[in-house]
Amino acid sequence: MVSLYQRTWTHIPFYRERWREHGLRADDIRSLSDISKLPILSKSDFESDLAEHPPFGSYQGNFPAIRVQASSGSSGHPKPFFQTRSDWDTIANLSSRRFHAQGVRAGDILQVVFTYSLFIAGFTGTEGAMKLGALVVPAGSGAVTPSERQVRLLSEWGATVIAGTPSYVLHLADVAERMGMDLQRDFKLRIGTHTAEPMTEAARRSIEARWGIKAYDNFGSVETGAPTFECAEQNGYHINEDAYIFEILDRDTLTPARPGDDGVVVVTSLFKEAAPVIRYNLEDISAIIDDPCGCGRTFRRLMKIKGRASEMLKVRGVPFYPAAVEGVLESFPELIREYRLVIDRHGQQDRVTVQVERRSDAVDKNSLRERLQRALKVATGLTMDTELLPPGELTRSLKIEERIKATRIWDRRGEKNV
Ligand SMILES: [Zn+2]
Repeated sequence: MVSLYQRTWTHIPFYRERWREHGLRADDIRSLSDISKLPILSKSDFESDLAEHPPFGSYQGNFPAIRVQASSGSSGHPKPFFQTRSDWDTIANLSSRRFHAQGVRAGDILQVVFTYSLFIAGFTGTEGAMKLGALVVPAGSGAVTPSERQVRLLSEWGATVIAGTPSYVLHLADVAERMGMDLQRDFKLRIGTHTAEPMTEAARRSIEARWGIKAYDNFGSVETGAPTFECAEQNGYHINEDAYIFEILDRDTLTPARPGDDGVVVVTSLFKEAAPVIRYNLEDISAIIDDPCGCGRTFRRLMKIKGRASEMLKVRGVPFYPAAVEGVLESFPELIREYRLVIDRHGQQDRVTVQVERRSDAVDKNSLRERLQRALKVATGLTMDTELLPPGELTRSLKIEERIKATRIWDRRGEKNV
């Protein structure tokens, strides 16, 4: 912590100026517990720095960087984050640790179906698997390797591990079944490792049951690298505490929450030279527990994210997280798992329409609609409209083949596409 502070003070004006304004000096951080003296950083701090210091911002610092990845910018422009060689090596090692904890070994064949782009997950997955001695099949997303080819590759080259977003891995299951393949007999897959989208337990169960594999959730981002991993217990994400500090703070006062209580997740990357995050508020709601884990690892666990503060919607005064809809769709085998929420304002009233896609035309639409609306009301407390689209229509309109990760909300109250 002390060396991170001093290195950053010397090389990164973005932090130095903030800390000075906060009344801190170059030698004010002397131990780990001094971390609470540092101000909390938010997404908008990076955004305003980018606007003032285009194109990369002053938060990168003057280190010799070898690559840049960027956040997907769901709330505006993509935010670039530099990596030095040492940053990248550490992230690759942590990614390798993640895969090892999930059972990936030398000799595994790991097909990466994440987008290779400014987005980081495809690359860290590739580096981590190579370090373990697995054979990487860098197929990329459907934009570069169409889904039917992905499915043939998975089957013919005998992939044992698939790394991708939960929604795309479920889409590949649909595609494979349409091609007449048997998901459990025609494939050698045994592990799925997922990130980039929140994976609900419903989505996990669906991936595991359909593909006959163990599906692991991981929590990370472009800004942080590979801070956590799920182990075989599938009960929270172990924090790589040798590389990151995670804090849970009260969401209103930003002071430490009581141990085990929910709060906002604030993260510090200890190893990063270029563009470190230091007390960065991820705006995710969760808790940290230090109960012993069944796997024997002693790194504490971050519990499943209860919701992104930025993803919480308020409709007619009722707060809800879109993921609640996903749990409902799980119980409707007539529907695929994709959905979109359209939020409109009619007069003074907000109205939510859930767009879903039928698996086949041969279903009684009226009775399906009625049952779905009832289940949605029970799960969210909101009365919602539903639109049952014919097979293929929503899949096309959501661009499942090309997208980096799923976007679920179309908030038309201000005509803003989230
Ligand atoms: Zn564990």
